[in-house]
Amino acid sequence: MLKVPRRIAIRAGWIIAFDGEGHRLLRDGVVVLEGERIVHVGRTYDERVDETVDARDRVLTPGLITTHAHIGGSPLDRSFIEDRGNPQFWYSGLFEMLPVRSEAQDEAAGRACVDFSMAELLRGGVTTVMEIGGLGEYVVERAAHYGLRVYMGLTFRSGRWLTKDGRRVVWEWDEDAGRQGLRRAVEFFDKHDGAHGGLVRCYFSPAQVDTCTGDLLREAKRRADDAQRPFTLHTSQSVVEFNEMLQRHGMTPVAWLDELGVLGPNTVLGHALIIGGSSWTNYPAGDVGIMAEHGCTVAHAPWVFARRGVVMESFALYRTAGINVALGTDTNPQSVIEAMRWAAVCSKIVERNTQATTAAHAFDAATLGGAHALGRDDLGRIAPGATADLVLWKAASWTMTPLRDPIKNIVYNATAEDVDRVYVGGRVVVDKGRVLAADEAKILADLQAGGDRMWPRMKQFDWAGRSADELSPQTYPEWQ
Ligand SMILES: [Zn+2]
Repeated sequence: MLKVPRRIAIRAGWIIAFDGEGHRLLRDGVVVLEGERIVHVGRTYDERVDETVDARDRVLTPGLITTHAHIGGSPLDRSFIEDRGNPQFWYSGLFEMLPVRSEAQDEAAGRACVDFSMAELLRGGVTTVMEIGGLGEYVVERAAHYGLRVYMGLTFRSGRWLTKDGRRVVWEWDEDAGRQGLRRAVEFFDKHDGAHGGLVRCYFSPAQVDTCTGDLLREAKRRADDAQRPFTLHTSQSVVEFNEMLQRHGMTPVAWLDELGVLGPNTVLGHALIIGGSSWTNYPAGDVGIMAEHGCTVAHAPWVFARRGVVMESFALYRTAGINVALGTDTNPQSVIEAMRWAAVCSKIVERNTQATTAAHAFDAATLGGAHALGRDDLGRIAPGATADLVLWKAASWTMTPLRDPIKNIVYNATAEDVDRVYVGGRVVVDKGRVLAADEAKILADLQAGGDRMWPRMKQFDWAGRSADELSPQTYPEWQ
């Protein structure tokens, strides 16, 4: 006998529903789910349902999407990486702080980071994450445990950067390691793409524009095209990288990718903010036009840069040029609520215009923009036929009251505390603000223990042998 999926009606006071062109505000409406799909959106619904959720006191939106994250380590950036930066590297944390953190971290700490981040993402209303990292098998397993939709890009590269003196960055190359990394990524893809009923998909994620050879990038892009999956890499993320690429190729990183032929609608460029036309490079403009011409996505993770004094110039410019701007979280916190807020506010500051980037632009980037990056017209929207990835937000709280315009409240005021319930593919994974599959006390204890093991080891991995306290002194000195 064919099993008929349960039909659930969610009656909500405010629904951000998609009418085929864009998000609209539907007051006092009803969304009907059948299994993992949305089958009806409207003011009324008169047919039989198995269950009715009375959410007339809540706001229903599509789940949020982060198109750039490193959940296998980024929570351990917390309380170490902030407030520090070497002007020799234009304040980028990539060359001194990040390598020390990632090399001092052990494997158990990496797993603790994955568990922490998945719970953190869900309780902040994120239903899909594009993960870039090395802990592929564990990420795939935990995605099913928590019920988080994951795109896993097992990363690889043929070179690495390092500094031996804190003055200059050098690159060491091992093209064979890059080829083997790509081979492992292909095997991983074949094994896990579509796992857990399609909850997990895979994609191709060479690490950085300055650590991959042109051949490796072309081969990875070909694989992504064949599989109809995204192709992503970090691009134009530091002044050091930008200048290195100019010296190597006589052109900007984005122009070099264009020359290689790896830009296209499935290309998701991580960051892409130190570009020609930016005041950080003082180099002629042109990169925005190239990215727009190829229909690329920029995975914009504003917070990781804003905390170093670096901003995209600007979200508004990229968007109006025709680039698909999606949001990323990159590091700690894995919060798309924060990403929306920082994206809007940083763009307003750069443009000196409060209307340049609005709550709608930020929310579109976090939903429709992310879905477009993934090539998924069933995500990031509440519409018949779409996948039921949904968030119910409190309408009455210290940050949501008074409620007149729910999206302005979410973008400019909300916190994860306002997320009441989350559905991923029709499955309730967060209820009353609690991630159902998360053992909170264990997650926090494991992450703390990971940090406690990591900080004392840091001096082994710093070029100058500095301790964690020397690299990143306590905010206030110890009481004597
Ligand atoms: Zn990144």
